Amino acid sequence: MKQHTLGQSFSFSGIGLHTGKPVRLCVSPAPAGSGICFNRTDLVSSMVPARVEYVAQTRRATSLSCQGVKVLTPEHLLAALWAMGVDNARIDLDAPEVPILDGSARPYAEAIQAAGLVEQDAERDVLIIKKPFVYEDRRSGSRIVFEPSASTVFDVTIDFDSKVVGVQHAVFDESTDFASQIAPSRTFCFLQEIKLLMRLGLIGGGSLDNALVIDEPNGYYGGGKPLFDNEPARHKLLDLLGDFSLAGRPLRGRIVAYKPGHKVNTQALKHYLDTL
Ligand SMILES: [Zn+2]
Repeated sequence: MKQHTLGQSFSFSGIGLHTGKPVRLCVSPAPAGSGICFNRTDLVSSMVPARVEYVAQTRRATSLSCQGVKVLTPEHLLAALWAMGVDNARIDLDAPEVPILDGSARPYAEAIQAAGLVEQDAERDVLIIKKPFVYEDRRSGSRIVFEPSASTVFDVTIDFDSKVVGVQHAVFDESTDFASQIAPSRTFCFLQEIKLLMRLGLIGGGSLDNALVIDEPNGYYGGGKPLFDNEPARHKLLDLLGDFSLAGRPLRGRIVAYKPGHKVNTQALKHYLDTL
């Protein structure tokens, strides 16, 4: 199958979830073979390729860093580009953090649909899982399993010590409509951890407009209603797709994730790529 880029550019303005900083972002078509690359327009030397070797931090979100240039919280935009088949795009932004918008990838997915895709004159280089591989984080109990499969499947189970969330399951495969089924799921956090996150400066741009807040054991805080019964699991699946997009190419195989998170996702991918 051939590589694809966007039919036209699209832009967003917003604030970063963690930094609270205003940012303007423009996603544009890019040449075949160039992959997905960020460009910090507020800095002179500023390209950051969306690849796992540039992962710098994974606390609450994934951040990339290349020669001192950082891009924070790229995962929802990257998930939308990857899941919707965009191989090459250039992402200009004028601040460190990608805008959180409504906490989901829906605005990005809709913009990609509106821009359309254009076939390019180069074949896709697909990452084919040829043998099983397991990565475990003993401390968190998280586990990511790679298995050969004729099609692409991401299978996520979350398991929170929570009456509201508990154990949930979500799947993305080739029959899933990413834009309507996965992209709309919003980021979430627990009311009880908000004070700590504020003290750590991790939610400078957080609000009920861009996060589902869980008030344990009562339900969703502030009248928030989940869009799907398993919206938290779908969001973890969205994050997993964004993190795995850092392979820099499409993937064929089955990924089974138990208690995924940005750290275990990116570590598992790095270790898997090291075995090739
Ligand atoms: Zn997320």
